[in-house]
Amino acid sequence: MNRIFPIAAFVLLCLACGPVQGEIKRTDMVLGTVCTIRLIEGGTTKTTDEIFARLRQIEDRMSVNKDGTEVAAVNAAAGKTAVKVSDDTFFVISKALDYARLTDGAFDPTVGPLVKLWGIGTEAARVPAKSEIAAALALVGYRNVELDKSAKTVKLLRPGMRLDLGAIAKGYSADECARILDAHKVKAAIIDLGGNILVYGKKKDKSPWKVGIQDPSSDRGEYIGIVTGPSMTVVTSGVYERYFMKDGVRYHHILDTKTGSPIQNGLTSVSIIADSSIDADGLSTSVFALGLEKGKKLVESLPDVKAIFIDSDRKVYLSEGMDAIFTMTNKTFSLQK
Ligand code: ADP
Ligand code: MG
Repeated sequence: MNRIFPIAAFVLLCLACGPVQGEIKRTDMVLGTVCTIRLIEGGTTKTTDEIFARLRQIEDRMSVNKDGTEVAAVNAAAGKTAVKVSDDTFFVISKALDYARLTDGAFDPTVGPLVKLWGIGTEAARVPAKSEIAAALALVGYRNVELDKSAKTVKLLRPGMRLDLGAIAKGYSADECARILDAHKVKAAIIDLGGNILVYGKKKDKSPWKVGIQDPSSDRGEYIGIVTGPSMTVVTSGVYERYFMKDGVRYHHILDTKTGSPIQNGLTSVSIIADSSIDADGLSTSVFALGLEKGKKLVESLPDVKAIFIDSDRKVYLSEGMDAIFTMTNKTFSLQK
């Protein structure tokens, strides 16, 4: 996954956590992005080694851009056979299909043919012809994925179909990092998988975590405000993460499963705050795809999930309860009541 704007990978800042004495920090490229693990208290380099080995294993199973992965095997067998996958991959695909049902297909892990066609975030990015979009769109449809729970197999019913777990796999990965932190009895840590943030445990001084929400109009990692609270995950989907410009139009990487083109609904970013990162990641893309009104409704119907919406007029909307943990710091944005 070549990112055209690698700088934008640093989308969420962990504030007020400058280098801590004695912390263990490791950064690597994995899952197509820049991943940083910081052990603030507890753990050893064995912990970070184990975490990065696990991230590579997930990438080797679920990447769509790499030969030999389970997802690549499922895609290659589309319209032909069911493919046995690991528990990992089966779980992530099942979760992705849950979000597809929940959003009536606005979120759809079979969006692969469109993702490949547009190539956004790669050197092959271009505006496809209408006929090409129509052909790819015809292959998108989560109802044509068949799962066998006991055999742990996945089958795409139509030739040419293509799974893409890019909207949810990083969230799963962050949860897996947290599991390893548990096992190693780490007390406080920050997981940053290309802006998919999970703040873990409690700091020694008991001060709350602070996570910055990226300014979607800046590619320099500036933020519009701060979320404060105990351990949580903050995941953002935005128009600034992967995109290209052509004739003054911004073509970004979240695609409309009805039109086959990048979503144009006035939103520039959606951040989800939750306990589970797979849910936050699935929801950030889902809610972005649904738009402000439907997305806010969905978030408010779910327990323990909150959201921040930003639109192209620099207006900021909060879901119920979010105002208690969010502080705006950038006065060029306006908080809507
Ligand atoms: P990021 O992975 O950059 O953090 P997201 O979680 O929002 O951001 O995922 C965007 C990715 O999801 C795209 O790059 C693509 O692989 C995939 N995708 C694009 N449109 C959709 C969609 N409508 N439903 C599900 N996945 C999508
Ligand atoms: Mg997502």
